[in-house]
Amino acid sequence: MVEKYLLLTPGPLTTSESVKAAMDFDYCTWDDDYKEITQSFRQSLLDVAQVSADEYTAVPIQGSGTYGVESVISSTISDDDKLMIAINGAYGKRISEMADIYGIDHVDLVVDEREPITLEKVTEYLDKYPDISHFAMIHCETTTGILNPVEDIIPYVNAHGIVTIVDAMSSFGGVPINVKEEKIDYLISSSNKCIQGVPGFSFVIARKQVLEATRGLSRTLSLDLFDQYAEMERNHGKWRFTSPTHVVHAFYEALQELKEEGGVVARHKRYESNQKHLATGMEELGFKVLIDEKYQSPIITSFIYPNDDFDFHDFYHQLKQDGFVIYPGKISQVPTFRIGNIGEVYDEDITELLVAIKDIISK
Ligand SMILES: *Cc1c(COP(=O)(O)O)cnc(C)c1O
Repeated sequence: MVEKYLLLTPGPLTTSESVKAAMDFDYCTWDDDYKEITQSFRQSLLDVAQVSADEYTAVPIQGSGTYGVESVISSTISDDDKLMIAINGAYGKRISEMADIYGIDHVDLVVDEREPITLEKVTEYLDKYPDISHFAMIHCETTTGILNPVEDIIPYVNAHGIVTIVDAMSSFGGVPINVKEEKIDYLISSSNKCIQGVPGFSFVIARKQVLEATRGLSRTLSLDLFDQYAEMERNHGKWRFTSPTHVVHAFYEALQELKEEGGVVARHKRYESNQKHLATGMEELGFKVLIDEKYQSPIITSFIYPNDDFDFHDFYHQLKQDGFVIYPGKISQVPTFRIGNIGEVYDEDITELLVAIKDIISK
């Protein structure tokens, strides 16, 4: 039996007891009550995105977050299109890998992982490649915890008639995003990040007019976003293939709890205060934050190893014994580790974590 611990990772994350309890039943996948739950959470997602069902739709896709991103990349971009990908971390790179696999023509704008994507660099590329039809970027690059300024970049790109794709996997529900105002055509996130559900599916908030023009473009059967959308519309919330029924119920509960907490604004505030508490406390203990405060997200924080003797493996295992699970680093330039603060994580948890860390490093 595994000892209980608090997950300080950016999804899967620590969920509430009531979210876990919502899975304690074997549900039917095509029953009307179940379809009603799917329809209801699709509407709740549009509310979180601050858009109306006249113009936008929320389409769930079975699988982890990557499946949702791959669904958009592989089924909404044609062989005649050209995709630009802004990359400052592993998740941007992953989109580039997808484009390679599907033979989609793409240009990559690669920025140092410690720096945000800027409108200036994007503009430079758009001028250089006037035939770009689609643009993809990451909102919170979970690789480092940097928050890219989607709100500065996407409206500008979209005004050029370019279809815009935002991987907001680790930020949606935890950072306010107005999908319409920010001119996002496809936004992708998943069940196990800031909505605080359990892993099992991803979802895409799509502008209907754009999505409806993609019929027949899919290169796969199971990741066909248009087809999943069409089936849900035709059949009132029916998923095309077996859906993760337990996960869907947990997600439905998690969305209620997001509302009860006070919505995205309140959750954002809690995450932000967790992150500030964590960063300040860690700096007092001698750990330096990797990302400049100006671009630091409230989701996850990268810390630089305090010295050459620092043994992450050891540190990880000691913390786990104290009831906290953290994350290794993911960048090449500097040795780092990461601590997430999303999920059912509160100020007192951060206080306890800092006490445990202080204890470990002073041994
Ligand atoms: C978590 C995450 C993903 C998806 O990862 P999965 O392991 O497939 O769920 C994609 N992009 C970002 C920015 C993420 O944080």
